[in-house]
Amino acid sequence: MTNQQYAGRDLSVLWHPCTQMKDHESFPIIPIKSGQGVWLVDFDGNRYLDAISSWWVNLFGHANPTINAALKDQLDNLEHVIFAGFSHEPAIKLAEQLVNITPEGLSRVFYAEIGSAAVEVALKMSFHYWRNLGKARKTKFITLENSYHGETLGALAVGNVSLYKETYEPLLMETISVPGPDCYNREAGESWSEYSARRFALMESALQRHADEVCAVIVEPLVQCAGGMRMYDPIYLQLLRKACDRYGVHLIADEIAVGFGRTGTMFACEQAEIRPDFMCLSKGLTGGYLPLSAVLTTDKLYQSFYDEYQTLKSFLHSHSYTGNALACRAALATLGIFQHNDVINQNRRLAARMAKLSERFNSHPNVAEVRQCGMIVAIELVKNKQTREPYPWQERRGLLVYHYALSKGVLLRPLGNVVYFMPPYVINEDELQLMVDVAWNGIQYAVQD
Ligand code: PMP
Repeated sequence: MTNQQYAGRDLSVLWHPCTQMKDHESFPIIPIKSGQGVWLVDFDGNRYLDAISSWWVNLFGHANPTINAALKDQLDNLEHVIFAGFSHEPAIKLAEQLVNITPEGLSRVFYAEIGSAAVEVALKMSFHYWRNLGKARKTKFITLENSYHGETLGALAVGNVSLYKETYEPLLMETISVPGPDCYNREAGESWSEYSARRFALMESALQRHADEVCAVIVEPLVQCAGGMRMYDPIYLQLLRKACDRYGVHLIADEIAVGFGRTGTMFACEQAEIRPDFMCLSKGLTGGYLPLSAVLTTDKLYQSFYDEYQTLKSFLHSHSYTGNALACRAALATLGIFQHNDVINQNRRLAARMAKLSERFNSHPNVAEVRQCGMIVAIELVKNKQTREPYPWQERRGLLVYHYALSKGVLLRPLGNVVYFMPPYVINEDELQLMVDVAWNGIQYAVQD
């Protein structure tokens, strides 16, 4: 079978995510036969460097031998079991380890299958907690401008990227949206921390006005990924933690995209030295192998649900594949790699290399900003460097970078006009160089009129 044969079969029966399917009249879908390390291989033998970790999930490469071996062993023992009334070793071990590696005080783990479901769980738990305490007026959530938390209806409601949200607005619960700390918008000469701290005044006033009706503030710590890899300073999280305590509001940290080393520390919250009331994890949790998510919370929260059955305080949120044994085992193998290899320190060196190699983009006449947070580098393309006037979205300049890069064997998938690198942690020097060179040439190709 060739690419073309699979592409034809695919397009006659499949409907792909985040895709205008009509685009595939001009651009063929790429069927992948195998993966190895940072490389994906199609049916015609073309290779693609996975510079975006397959939507930010892959940490240690495709077909990772350690994770493969763990899964093969798990397959011979237990693939899945109902998670109500039953349990299993991988789920227990994984919960113990997650409690150990996340900020102190997060001592309870609730599993779900995908990132969006973890967000739904955190929202429902927060609301339900206040109800358990007799505070039934608390029904709202505060969210930041330009944030993204998933695309199920609850998760979509607390996100703010209009591309995903606008059409479905009539279906969504009402939220309180606050202008965010995204440092792209800082004044000339203003530092990240000055800007992020200054922007906190807007959050403070929203909390002041709405605290009695608000369950929680939900944020993506340090990097608003789907919103164009926009970044902010940890000071904002410190101020937010203190304010949430002062106003009696929960803090939900959505570390689905930034957790597991992406920002340079195991979890982004560590850089602000804060403990959220809920931490949502997914994506890298299984090393990019299987869908699994987890919500960690505190004993205080857990205890508010712990009562006689007749009080009807049980937390009812039940997905069929909750705590799937194969997924938990893949997650354990992933955490094992972190334990046995000095991943966070190695990533520091990789991040420094990415910074060095990306310096050249600063001088490009159509680049407004090159920003970095740990293992994430983003390059903001603009029509006018001086005024920062963006390219009209209809021109789809980022898409031109995508197609160019694919033709040169690199999978970059810009977010609008933001080209970014978020590679698996096993990328080597030559591969880094290739990724950056192809991005440079792709940008040159995309900005010509
Ligand atoms: N939260 C964040 C911060 C994300 O980046 C994503 C996925 N891009 C989600 C939630 C949703 O995760 P999933 O796609 O697994 O539902």
